[in-house]
Amino acid sequence: MMCFRKIRFVANLGKTILLLLGLLMPLLQVQAQDMSTRDLGNGLTLVSGSGGNILVFQAGNGEVLVVDGGLEQYAQQTLDTINGVTGNGDISLLINTHWHPEQTGLNTLLGNRGVRIFAHENTRQWLGTSITHPWDNSTFAPLPLSAQPSETFYHYGDLEIGDSQIRYGYLRQAHTDGDMYVYFPEANVLHGGGVLANDGWPLMDWWTGGWIGGLANGLEVLLEIADEDTIIVPANGPLMSKADLQAMRDMYATIFQRISGGFRAANSVEDTLGQDPTAEFNAQFGDPEDFVRRSHESLIPHYTPDA
Ligand SMILES: [Zn+2]
Repeated sequence: MMCFRKIRFVANLGKTILLLLGLLMPLLQVQAQDMSTRDLGNGLTLVSGSGGNILVFQAGNGEVLVVDGGLEQYAQQTLDTINGVTGNGDISLLINTHWHPEQTGLNTLLGNRGVRIFAHENTRQWLGTSITHPWDNSTFAPLPLSAQPSETFYHYGDLEIGDSQIRYGYLRQAHTDGDMYVYFPEANVLHGGGVLANDGWPLMDWWTGGWIGGLANGLEVLLEIADEDTIIVPANGPLMSKADLQAMRDMYATIFQRISGGFRAANSVEDTLGQDPTAEFNAQFGDPEDFVRRSHESLIPHYTPDA
């Protein structure tokens, strides 16, 4: 009897392990992503498909700068794609245009290899602490020290990669409070970071310092840099022209005016939603509910004296 029971126990254990493995395997496998590359000229390549647009710049001396990193789950595939573009060029600098996971997925992999990481000072601070978004309780653990930005700035400046100069600057409180742009004057290519989302409504991340009024202001700054020929890279979605920037600035300014007007008249979030302040843009950008809710909430720290 004992013997049979033991055999049956072992057989059941085996089945259980197989069942568990069957359930876990999809989680253990990192699905290969469809990543695409597009040559933008003058040493610049756009890498898309890892969760956010990545800009890769290879200077004349072979040195490589990477702007944003996509999601961490695709980090190795992203790095392989970048290495394919640059012929395994030496990555000397990684820039994070803000702290969100879609931008910072290469930080651990490259930080562990001693690559310098550059970002706004506020981005470094967010990446060094635990963040829980109050609207959905999504939690983001701090990155290890080696994966946090090693060099930061406050306002604007220049960087040298090989013999090329690159300009960067702060976009104040916009999508978060650590947004920045990166501009390549020789190629006339501008990465606008999280201020630009061109494939749907952006996350209006007021919890880490963004607000709807700041999005419109951030676009004003980008409009001063861009000319008619500038290739503009958003954090997500297809490339943009200056005319697209102007349309996006006008859209956010209109939405800001409507939501802030209602807010000052003591509208509740539900009142604001009921007024559909994004009505004429919904066909292009999709269901606006989360964006409108977060945009309304983003006004609280700006318009409520005791908040
Ligand atoms: Zn973002």
